[in-house]
Amino acid sequence: MSENFDVIVIGGGPAGYPAAIRAGQNKLSVACIDEWKNRDGSTAFGGTCLNAGCIPSKALLESSELYHRALHEFAVHGVKLDGVAFDVGAMQKRKAGIVRQSTAGILALFKGAGVTALTGHGRLLAGRKVEFIGHDGSKRTLQAKHVVLASGSEPMPLRGVTFDGDRIVDSWGALDFTEVPKRLCVIGAGVIGLELGSVWRRLGAETVVLEALPQLLPMADAQLAKEAARHFKKQGLDIRLGAKVSGAAIEKDGVHVSYTDGQGAQTLVVDRLIVAIGRRPFTKDLLGDGTGVVLDERGFIQVDDHCRTGAEGVWAVGDCVRGPMLAHKGKEEGVAVADLIAGQYGHVNYKTIPSVIYTAPEIAWVGQTEEQVKAAGRTYKTGSFPFAASGRARAMEAGAGFCKVIADAGSDEILGIHIIGPMAGELIAEAVLAMEYSASSEDLQRTIHAHPTLSEAVHEAALAVDKRAIDIPNR
Ligand SMILES: Cc1cc2nc3c(=O)[nH]c(=O)nc-3n(C[C@H](O)[C@H](O)[C@H](O)COP(=O)(O)OP(=O)(O)OC[C@H]3O[C@@H](n4cnc5c(N)ncnc54)[C@H](O)[C@@H]3O)c2cc1C
Repeated sequence: MSENFDVIVIGGGPAGYPAAIRAGQNKLSVACIDEWKNRDGSTAFGGTCLNAGCIPSKALLESSELYHRALHEFAVHGVKLDGVAFDVGAMQKRKAGIVRQSTAGILALFKGAGVTALTGHGRLLAGRKVEFIGHDGSKRTLQAKHVVLASGSEPMPLRGVTFDGDRIVDSWGALDFTEVPKRLCVIGAGVIGLELGSVWRRLGAETVVLEALPQLLPMADAQLAKEAARHFKKQGLDIRLGAKVSGAAIEKDGVHVSYTDGQGAQTLVVDRLIVAIGRRPFTKDLLGDGTGVVLDERGFIQVDDHCRTGAEGVWAVGDCVRGPMLAHKGKEEGVAVADLIAGQYGHVNYKTIPSVIYTAPEIAWVGQTEEQVKAAGRTYKTGSFPFAASGRARAMEAGAGFCKVIADAGSDEILGIHIIGPMAGELIAEAVLAMEYSASSEDLQRTIHAHPTLSEAVHEAALAVDKRAIDIPNR
């Protein structure tokens, strides 16, 4: 096999593997190196997202939601069940199967695009050489015209809390519980903490979520965050804000979690503790001497707006560079870089990256929050539509939440769309497209939406911007 490639991608997660596939589609010779190892020692492409993040978490969210609905919602539809039970083992088996299928799919895609898959460690050396150490211990030096660094991220540890992989775990460990803990504590009420807390809460765990910040979901529109807090409370998620954890110790009767809040020092005793306080860039052993690649003060690889590092022909994408740590953001960066390398057009619009939280109800948004628009001193108008007024949502017994559209008061350009409600993560795609095309709220108002669909809530919220909603009174 040749040791020379047009492109070598280090990291085969959702940022790296699309970069490799697009490079292959662009008729470049490309290798993708990934060192991921599962707990059973098997290797897999797909990175955190496919192996220990997006996909396994959504599999468990779906299973636990179905159980929850069977227990609490089927009766209202007239569906009578003679007792509802769940089997964590079966849920985990299903999850593992989905992960396996997804990661195996990448190898098939690599084959189709002519990508050479290399499992092992990659290290960038000076002059765009890459040292590759296979999992079998073999060592080779490869040469590339371009190198794409896509080494991803890892869970942020918390001082005073040591992972033991059983009672005290990170997000990966929390996806592998083989039984439902009776008492569970999640540190961190961010996206990952809320999703994992929801899974185990729905299956019956008494769940306390400790959040250091005084506000829930500070990155979301305040109205959405308020609505979300109401639903989480109703679901029995005990979210304690302003709770700063100082340590955790494993004792005979459980994990003792020490924290301080407005009332002073507190201790909580639980069976399992999940630490989900965020992620940090992962660049361990990635860079040799003299590469010219620079890390910033938080450990991210420094890049410009087009993901170029300071070193010629070296690019970096995904969680290891600035911007939201999201799979779809990394994917777009990877694809854009592979197109730029091939001399084509490549661009990521960082203003239209959607955020989704897969709780129930789902939460999704794109663009600016009302608070951000206000702080920018812009004059604006808003329109909201509750799912309770949507025929489809009512038929689904899913009337919680609303859609809110924010538009510039003068130009009518859409500045942000915020949704909490059924399938918000799917509905947001229309909002992203609208913003990508710099749509006005009137553009959305004049777009036909099928009836009865949940998407009519987006249509009606856009109409409400100009007090022209049909299915709710305009105030
Ligand atoms: C529980 C959880 C749920 C999540 N849910 C979502 C979600 O619903 N939606 C979403 O958008 N995001 C979600 N995320 C975030 C998402 O997983 C990340 O944003 C995404 O995986 C980042 O992609 P990446 O390719 O940059 O890095 P990673 O996915 O971390 O992949 C990097 C890969 O590079 C490999 N690697 C690193 N260094 C080297 C090296 N030197 N040599 C060889 N290989 C190397 C790693 O082993 C890994 O396989 C979730 C994360 C978690 C933890």
